[in-house]
Amino acid sequence: MQTLAEVRAAVERLALPERGTIGGRLTAAADGATFENVSPRDGRVLGLVPRMGAADIDAAVAAARAAFEDGRWRTLTPKARKRILFALADRMEAEADELALMETLDTGKPITDSRNIDIPLAIQTVRWYAEALDKVYGEVGPGNAAKLSIAVHEPLGVIGAITPWNFPLHMAMWKVAPALAMGNSVVLKPAEQSPLTAMRVAELAIEAGLPAGCFNVVTGFGDPAGAALARHMDVDMITFTGSGPVGRKLMIYSGESNLKRVSLELGGKAPQIVFADCPDFDAAAEAAAWGVFFNQGEVCTAASRLLVQQEIADEFMAKVVEVARSIRVGDPLDPATRFGAMVSREQLGTALRYIDTARNEGDRLLLGGRQVRTDSGGFYLEPTIFDCVAESSTLAREEVFGPVLGALTFKDTKDALRIANDTIYGLASGLWTGSLDRAMTVSRQLRAGLVWVNGWDACDITMPFGGFKQSGFGRDRSLHAMHKYADLKSITFTVRDTNT
Ligand code: NAP
Repeated sequence: MQTLAEVRAAVERLALPERGTIGGRLTAAADGATFENVSPRDGRVLGLVPRMGAADIDAAVAAARAAFEDGRWRTLTPKARKRILFALADRMEAEADELALMETLDTGKPITDSRNIDIPLAIQTVRWYAEALDKVYGEVGPGNAAKLSIAVHEPLGVIGAITPWNFPLHMAMWKVAPALAMGNSVVLKPAEQSPLTAMRVAELAIEAGLPAGCFNVVTGFGDPAGAALARHMDVDMITFTGSGPVGRKLMIYSGESNLKRVSLELGGKAPQIVFADCPDFDAAAEAAAWGVFFNQGEVCTAASRLLVQQEIADEFMAKVVEVARSIRVGDPLDPATRFGAMVSREQLGTALRYIDTARNEGDRLLLGGRQVRTDSGGFYLEPTIFDCVAESSTLAREEVFGPVLGALTFKDTKDALRIANDTIYGLASGLWTGSLDRAMTVSRQLRAGLVWVNGWDACDITMPFGGFKQSGFGRDRSLHAMHKYADLKSITFTVRDTNT
């Protein structure tokens, strides 16, 4: 698939999944309802997807509970569980091109990104947790000769995963892989905009030998399907990536039902700070542009607030604009495209409204700001840059979740930190400086779960991912994610002295 013609031919051959998976079986909605799955590439309907609801959630949770209670997965030897998860990763790899096409058709992201980033990282995540599952050790307490205390990790039970549309399979695997690796059963509710890859991977899991009921995929809308999952009395935990407003609801649902655990990966308004002693202005300008324009800006870690030290602001912004100007908005199926469509008409509308607001509030438009490729029927927006953004302006404070950069200036380190931390969010952040002392000092004072020094988005599966403040709590990635899907049990053995 090197050319647009080859990719189009592959799309013609592509068979899209049509069912969810409950208890190891491909399943339509109990009431037969469906919804139209629209591609943002051209606004056309890709197919019908089951519109599942509370009855389907009940069935999926019952299947997951049965699988957990009879131990068909959690009591397998680590070696056996590992073999099955590796088999799943192998099947995903064998179908990587098809999964990439589905992801691009569903989300509008460039096929090159789906093939080189989303799908490989989803596969890597499954492999990483397969490898890790026998490397999570318990603890032995200090005690004394009369007592032996151990702390062991035990799976929680039934995990409800609710995921977004921006990296559909990748985000889903961040949750499903560690939850399964720890021996849990999972019910996944993917976003309505992008259900295809999750549907297909649930089918591949059956082929890989994952016992029925351990991984269920229920397609449908946030309300009723997601809400029914989060309100369910027999779900032990909800693990979520998505917006703050839905995150709040999930905590309420938990409180109103069985006090299930809730883990939230929410939004962000990430500051990227460029100090005058930046060691590489070209690299920083690339990072400033691609930090917010990658994936059409639909990234929770998008570097949407650019903080530039006053004395370099004009020169540096000219470089950023130059990089951004070279970004061509194109057909997501064209392998040459690096910037595709926004996920939906609604998301495009939201971004356009933020652009209007920024103009009205006096932010200065340096680049973009218009909807483009309207003839395609799809939802495309130009990379957009505003500068002279006031700290109090909407663009400096609210998450757009689209390709809109707001640039601000600062005087000195103290000023930069004050502006960077003046947000309800705390997911990602970054800084560019040639001073080791400044790098160390500022990175410790940034109130965010991720800090990147002289680079952007520079960490991987080995490092925990998650937010401070209203960006949520709980961590995806790394061994910490495995601990999230387990309870710690302390067991104490009282030892009788056999010498007496
Ligand atoms: P969203 O509207 O919160 O949706 C996320 C998921 O929640 C979807 O599966 C959605 O279902 C479901 N949902 C909606 N209402 C629900 C309810 N009442 N009960 C249970 N589930 C419900 O967010 P989004 O529009 O997909 O994604 C954008 C947001 O996610 C942004 O704020 C972004 O920052 C954040 N995000 C964060 C991260 C991170 O790692 N921190 C990563 C990606 C995105 P339907 O879509 O089917 O309605």
